[in-house]
Amino acid sequence: MNQEVRLRVKHVVISAVVIVFLFFYSLSSGRDCESEESRSNVVAERWAAGQGRDAFLPNRKGPTIYAVTPTYARPVQKAELTRLSHVIRLVPNIFWVIVEDATQTSPLVTNLLSRSGLQDRSVQLFAKTPTNFKLQGKDPNWLKPRGVEQRNEALKWIRKHLKRDAMGNGDAKVSHSLVYFMDDDNTYSTELFEEISKIERGKVGVWPVGLVGGLMVEKPVLNRDGLVLGFNSAWKPERPFPLDMAGFAISSDLLLDNPQAQFSYEVERGYQESEILRHLTIAHDMQPLANQCKNVLVWHTRTETPKLDAEKTLQKSGKKSNDGMEV
Ligand code: UDP
Ligand code: MN
Repeated sequence: MNQEVRLRVKHVVISAVVIVFLFFYSLSSGRDCESEESRSNVVAERWAAGQGRDAFLPNRKGPTIYAVTPTYARPVQKAELTRLSHVIRLVPNIFWVIVEDATQTSPLVTNLLSRSGLQDRSVQLFAKTPTNFKLQGKDPNWLKPRGVEQRNEALKWIRKHLKRDAMGNGDAKVSHSLVYFMDDDNTYSTELFEEISKIERGKVGVWPVGLVGGLMVEKPVLNRDGLVLGFNSAWKPERPFPLDMAGFAISSDLLLDNPQAQFSYEVERGYQESEILRHLTIAHDMQPLANQCKNVLVWHTRTETPKLDAEKTLQKSGKKSNDGMEV
């Protein structure tokens, strides 16, 4: 009898412990759900407040940005252009003007454009850099500049295209658009193009560029009123515009108003930016972007040339690792 009572008490105690355990367990897992939810709310809020996720959704409209990319055949070319094409896919108001340093367009670039779905907002041009162009004077400091022929070809195409566009509108006034020189090896944030989209008619926009000119960042220096006073450059600071090609973009009406503005073989190394900009603006009139030039949204990265010793050995015996493959 006593034993039976003890057994029942034992059962009751065990059941109570199980119920209490289940109760607390359900409470704690409920809290987990709640915290999971609030965590995702925090994430959503963070995205909404910043430019985070929106910047990566291809749904933004804005003035057309003609992104001019000189490019030339070498082992890393497809890798570079693939990186670039992915940025461009994410920024729907970019029109890609790709200019090959060659005597004709290549299937590699054609394939890349069609595979990335950018055929409708790109043009594939070519302009070969002359091998024996003559520089004026024999200054030993004058080196071969890169991308001159290609950028000028792009400018010619853009000017023609803009004029035709304006005539098509039955209007002498061209629609607002921008031109940016987008080399194939740099690293670009999609946010940069939101900044470029803010450039006003008649203006050249400027912003910092990371990892260039021997500095962590080269940037415009602003005065208290937010006007561009100059630049912090350490390399050839005496240049009229001591900044990198990746650090500015131009309102296209300036290019039509100043048809002589272009790049030149006849300037000292490092003076290409100054060469085009001297026709278009003065430092004071430039439009500072990227949070008053405090944010870095583009980096002047350079890709290491890959070592292909084994490939060269293969080639000597008439073979190649990429036979029939585009790399
Ligand atoms: N480029 C070219 N032909 C050349 C060398 C360079 O079209 O013979 C292009 C290159 O693909 C890049 C731009 O010109 O888009 C600037 O060249 P690079 O990046 O080598 O110059 P850097 O980084 O030294 O300013
Ligand atoms: Mn480069």
